[in-house]
Amino acid sequence: MSQPLLGLGLKALEAWAQEHGQAAFRGRQLHDWLYAKGARQLADVSVLPKGFREQMAAQPPEGALDWMGRSRELHRSVARDGTTKLLLGTHDGLSIETVGIPAEGRLTVCVSSQVGCPMACRFCATGKGGLQRSLAVHEIVDQVLSVREVMEQRPSHVVFMGMGEPLLNIEAVLAAIDCLCTDLGMAQRQITVSTVGVPRTLPRLAELALERLGRAQFTLAVSLHAPDQRLREELIPTAHAYPIEDLLEDCRRYVAITGRRVSFEYILLGGLNDQPRHAVALAQLLRGFQSHVNLIPYNPIAEEEFQRPTPAAVDGFRRALQDRHVAVSVRASRGLDADAACGQLRRRLEGSLEPVLAR
Ligand code: SAH
Repeated sequence: MSQPLLGLGLKALEAWAQEHGQAAFRGRQLHDWLYAKGARQLADVSVLPKGFREQMAAQPPEGALDWMGRSRELHRSVARDGTTKLLLGTHDGLSIETVGIPAEGRLTVCVSSQVGCPMACRFCATGKGGLQRSLAVHEIVDQVLSVREVMEQRPSHVVFMGMGEPLLNIEAVLAAIDCLCTDLGMAQRQITVSTVGVPRTLPRLAELALERLGRAQFTLAVSLHAPDQRLREELIPTAHAYPIEDLLEDCRRYVAITGRRVSFEYILLGGLNDQPRHAVALAQLLRGFQSHVNLIPYNPIAEEEFQRPTPAAVDGFRRALQDRHVAVSVRASRGLDADAACGQLRRRLEGSLEPVLAR
């Protein structure tokens, strides 16, 4: 096994130590240094024999520069409200965004599941650059550790709402959730997986979650964004291959398998999908569905002409849903001055970071 150690549990670390001629208790030490202490390099794990550390440094793992599997911080952007966006560098010279969002009594980490994204949603900055590759489990867990280190606070919540489409990387996403819960002591209920919908993957996610995690208690958030197929396709080109009725049917199957409510995200684009008639149609569409709708006012990105919704439109939309007994909340825009929209920081810095990334 020559994958990096981050992401492995205690048993696997003990096995790794033994495979490399060390006593099993070295695995426990590694676990402590990886997860509790947040060591960045195997060379820093001073309790391990120096000869062993040198021997392992000479044969690095696949997919990382060092056995610990940590990224490099390339850039940090801190908003006035404390929201901290990190640009992290991977071993192969790519970069991903991770955001730490502090709020009273909690710290939410918004993690990426892929480098770039193939879904090409029109309002999303990440979608403009296409997909480079999916992230490995250590690269997902690393983001949570990086935010913990930079913000000097234990993350309480993790949302898969950064770059990428988590349902195109299910195995690594579930392995990362397992690690966050088992090795970092988080609760599945504090974790949210957000998807724009990939045909035939939702029931699979539910079944694999039960198989791998024993239970599926994380929240599934589905990016709906429109109350009908025509408008949805306009905003989300990939929706063409996934009729909205099929997506909702898959959501119902997900609920049946996991017993968890699904939440729907709905981006509000000024004048486009934020009118009262859209709210009425949305309430109609979700009738009888145990769900929660999260309204997200659009964060403007450089490449598109979409408008932010007016505060009155946001409020009107929320009330129209409430009046029809749909559970609804409005996402507070956080850290607008830290390039809040998904993928924006990386796009802004792409040019200027090339010399750093090439190193
Ligand atoms: N691919 C997944 C997860 C990443 S995006 C998904 O689509 O759900 C996380 C959320 O941010 C999605 O609901 C997405 O539609 C939303 N989002 C993307 N760009 C945005 C923007 N410019 N303003 C507001 N929300 C945006």
